[in-house]
Amino acid sequence: MTENGDAIDGGSDEAPNESALDEKLRVPSCERCPALVESRSRIVDGVGPTDADLLFVGEGPGAREDEEGEPFVGRSGDVLDEALRDAGLARADVRITNCVRCRPPDNRDPTTEELANCRGHLDAEIDRLAPDLIVTLGKVPSEHLLDRSVAITSESGEVVDARIAGASRRVLLSVHPAATLYDRSQRDGFFETIARAGELSGAAGGESGGQSRLGEF
Ligand code: SF4
Repeated sequence: MTENGDAIDGGSDEAPNESALDEKLRVPSCERCPALVESRSRIVDGVGPTDADLLFVGEGPGAREDEEGEPFVGRSGDVLDEALRDAGLARADVRITNCVRCRPPDNRDPTTEELANCRGHLDAEIDRLAPDLIVTLGKVPSEHLLDRSVAITSESGEVVDARIAGASRRVLLSVHPAATLYDRSQRDGFFETIARAGELSGAAGGESGGQSRLGEF
């Protein structure tokens, strides 16, 4: 890793244990985005098992995430945790990461350039994990990974295939959990989408979920 932020180690032929792999997914230093370097307290890496079936991708750290060094904590994280529980999942079962790993100032969206700067880190994480399903939480990660404009409220719940990190990946689009706080009418849809994520990835287990259903989409 260089000081100006080379991507996560591209890997070797050896099979590292989970903690070694988790270490490889961390970005110990990176200064590619001057405004974000200025506004961040720390780099917020992804959390969760390195063999997770399910990878959630958000936009970027907010104030609480920047403070605690973990994606999706605070009120949005509470909603996500509740939906995961309803789906028969726990936060510890899934991996959660962001498109950019440093907090944008004043909670603004990351710029196109910042998203591009951090893409190598995200792609390396996706490549390493090879999750069964990626869930994009909100418009920014959906548009970033699908490389097209997305009407997230109407497209939330849809499953699409997209070429990401050198391979075709299955992606489930979702509204951001915070959307349920601003607009209660989005809550049921969000919870249904997370339940679907558990079924499609097999992460929630059970007779009705699992890999066999992937072929339906
Ligand atoms: S957002 Fe990503 S690319 Fe930009 S400084 Fe942080 S870790 Fe580096």
